[in-house]
Amino acid sequence: MDYQALAELLFPDIRENVGDYETKYPPRDLPEGAVVTRIAPSPTGFVHLGNLYNAIGERLAHQTGGVFFLRIEDTDQKREVEGAVEAVIDAMNFYGVHFDEGATVDGETGNYGPYRQRQRKTLYQTVAKSLVQRGLAYPCFCTEEELAGMHTAQEAAKDNYGYYGKYAVWRDRPLSDIEAALSAGKEWVLRFRSAGDPANTVTVKDGIRGELKLQENFTDVVLLKSDGIPTYHFAHVCDDHFMRTTHVIRDESWLATLPIHVQLFDILGWERPVYCHTATLMKMDGESKRKLSKRKDPELGLRFYREIGYPQEATWLYLLTVLNSNFEEWHLANPDADSREFTFSLEKMSTSGALFDLEKLDNIAREYLSRRTADFVYEGLLDWAGQFDTALAGRMQAKADFYKAAINVGRGGDKPRKDYGSWSAAAKFLAFYDPETFTRTDACPELISAEDKTAILTQYLASLNFADTQEEWFAKVKEMTDALGYAVQPKKYKKNPELYKGSIVDVTNLLRVAVTGRQNAPDLWEISHVLGEAETRRRLTEYRDA
Ligand code: GLU
Repeated sequence: MDYQALAELLFPDIRENVGDYETKYPPRDLPEGAVVTRIAPSPTGFVHLGNLYNAIGERLAHQTGGVFFLRIEDTDQKREVEGAVEAVIDAMNFYGVHFDEGATVDGETGNYGPYRQRQRKTLYQTVAKSLVQRGLAYPCFCTEEELAGMHTAQEAAKDNYGYYGKYAVWRDRPLSDIEAALSAGKEWVLRFRSAGDPANTVTVKDGIRGELKLQENFTDVVLLKSDGIPTYHFAHVCDDHFMRTTHVIRDESWLATLPIHVQLFDILGWERPVYCHTATLMKMDGESKRKLSKRKDPELGLRFYREIGYPQEATWLYLLTVLNSNFEEWHLANPDADSREFTFSLEKMSTSGALFDLEKLDNIAREYLSRRTADFVYEGLLDWAGQFDTALAGRMQAKADFYKAAINVGRGGDKPRKDYGSWSAAAKFLAFYDPETFTRTDACPELISAEDKTAILTQYLASLNFADTQEEWFAKVKEMTDALGYAVQPKKYKKNPELYKGSIVDVTNLLRVAVTGRQNAPDLWEISHVLGEAETRRRLTEYRDA
């Protein structure tokens, strides 16, 4: 076979050669050990946790003086959604992930582009042509039906699936057959001529998983589809070589096709990058674990976290806790340090099914927010409300000091309150403070009769003095509790319930329902001072008379 003639026949317009690209994209001039890595999402409009997870590469790149870039894998035009690149960049930006180079909303930056795969067609075809010239790739004119028939035959014969051996019907066809098929206008794909053997193993050192022994690829996989656009396998090999990527951090679902990728790197004489396969995010579904699914699990999408309003850093704390085995310990030792100060290492990343659990995220986020200042929480909530609850944003701006005081209740000290972990939860929680949104959600404690309700609230109103210290205030509450026949010490009530109408817990819960609308609320004295005397009295009176 005259491979040169075949290459010209298939790619008459390709005048470049691989060497031209080697010159155009020289090895990067970076310090020893610098990591060059990327995320390479498809522009489907769905930005998910996995994207953020793999963007951990940014930390690695920047820890080592390397480069982190964004490549858009847009070879599948059917799945493309308008505004998708913007959505990725916006989501990453929101989580503090910044690219040194790559696709931007309206163009790109960097010397290793284009960073959108559809704009790299000539490069892929140049590499493809070089493989044809070397007898390592050939056109295949099989129709979908023929391929489906082959699959059925393999199933019946219990053979390995794929295009190889006797099934690779176009592998060794004479040039005349190819010419005839081309002039008949038949569609073709370009296939790789694999010299692999299913009996062989290939060794790959994964940056996260260590040494892997995998079955060698023995199938003639498709490199270029019938429209001349490359498959993921071929495109990423060309791109990560010419973009001089040192580490390919991607989901473990790519492990299955890794043998194809390393085979291509080897055949092309290019140095393999360090492949790092991250653990797929899983969740419990009843008793069993399963992969988070785009269709079933809204929590896979990053949008979900933004709408609920988990603070960005809390989301990172959670992701790092789940995905990195030594992060939690570090965070416990450095609870107030920014997670970016943590020295990140690939070897410590989880290798199998990282279990995702929203409750844990919520707990981490509550802890995180409980340690922040009132100003921080105010700003974060306002930011979120500006997008998701504009009425709240308006109220917060009109009454900034009031909202800050409300947020500050129960903050500081050794045991700060952990009432909310997200901005939406904070909005809900804080609603009782503002007279404009105040409603009573809880009922009067069961042990308190209608008569006592009136008596307690009347006496409380009479004794209430905003000049009292918290201790003086509480002494009066205890006095009233005792006088009305309730136990001042809940323990005593528990021991001899027949001696009392109830305990101080019931009395203060009643006061809480009157002032906050809930039995469960932070310190009543503090809350009253945020509300001010007039509003506190108004609520107490209103409830007494209701
Ligand atoms: N487009 C691929 C994906 O979204 C990229 C995988 C990779 O990082 O190489 O899964």
